[in-house]
Amino acid sequence: MALQISPEVRAIMRRSAAELEPYDPGFSPVEVNLSANENTYGMPEAVRWAINDALSQTALNRYPVPLADKLRQKLADWHGVDPSQVCVGNGGDELLFNLFLAFGGPGRTLLNSTPTFSVYSIYAGLVDTPIVNVERDPETFAPNQDELLRLAPQSNIVVLTSPNNPTGDIVDKDFVDRLCRACPGIVLLDEAYGEFAPTGSTCEPLLASHPNLVVLHTLSKAFAFAGGRLGYVLADPSVVGALAAVRQPYTVDVLVQAAAEVIVDHRHDFLPTIGQIKSERERLLEGLGRLSDLGVKAWPSCSNFVCVRVPDAPHVWTSLRDDHSILVRNFSATPGLHNCLRITVGTPAENDRVLAALRTILQED
Ligand code: PMP
Repeated sequence: MALQISPEVRAIMRRSAAELEPYDPGFSPVEVNLSANENTYGMPEAVRWAINDALSQTALNRYPVPLADKLRQKLADWHGVDPSQVCVGNGGDELLFNLFLAFGGPGRTLLNSTPTFSVYSIYAGLVDTPIVNVERDPETFAPNQDELLRLAPQSNIVVLTSPNNPTGDIVDKDFVDRLCRACPGIVLLDEAYGEFAPTGSTCEPLLASHPNLVVLHTLSKAFAFAGGRLGYVLADPSVVGALAAVRQPYTVDVLVQAAAEVIVDHRHDFLPTIGQIKSERERLLEGLGRLSDLGVKAWPSCSNFVCVRVPDAPHVWTSLRDDHSILVRNFSATPGLHNCLRITVGTPAENDRVLAALRTILQED
């Protein structure tokens, strides 16, 4: 049953918290879950065995090393930065919260390029940060670069997501470069899905010239570790210091640190699956293209999900779940995403199943 907040409790909550509802990812028990952009292929078996081995040798009686120094060194080596430029968190979500805690707040501004990942505005709101939304192009979802550049000088945090969730497009590097120059505050580039984008899309090279740039990564998506909760940012050492000052010290536990070290060591073992997800994405998009005569429009994607507009999306979403046991994410109530669903790219069998179900539902109507 969904958790409720009674009016009496809401009345005694802090105002910005009282405006919220308990987070509901909309999970239901289904056979095919393509709703949360997870890696539905799971871990390569050899990696899973290596993790099991590492976990069995991990002592549980001591507190974890707060910033996970061993893991931090491995992440730094991977990305070609100094360990002082790495901060780990309990998933990317925690780092996003810490970022708003450190750099947001009353009288400060978040500049947001919408529609995008809803967590930015939720966390900004929690710490009473006013939000300025700049709408993306309604047809292409391209960010409004001129407007973002115009507003950046008055902003304390600018967030860009590349690839963007749920629209799947990537941001132009020259634009990020100009934005970092224009903004006196933090420019957060969320690359949670960066591994699915074309090689060379990452904005990491800009870190060397912009001390206000923060690049977010996670092991949740490409590295099949959503259940483990390990995100990290790359940033200037001083920005990492600011995050370290506000973070709870022990949120990345010893088991997650040990498992994440194994994943980083074995990161190349994930490349075949990442490649397959990318080719399945194109096959899914081709299949959706064949449904255009039934009113389906799908946008190109550089990520492990696709954004699709269908006639009467709430009905299609419900029928996928109840008649076909397939869960996707319904965005039709989000401004700019009328009648849109987001479908995670799954295994070939999962993708075939969602394509067949969509055809059946749309032909019935
Ligand atoms: N950024 C984006 C754009 C996301 O979609 C997500 C997950 N849905 C995250 C960050 C955070 O992922 P996690 O907390 O699992 O690392």
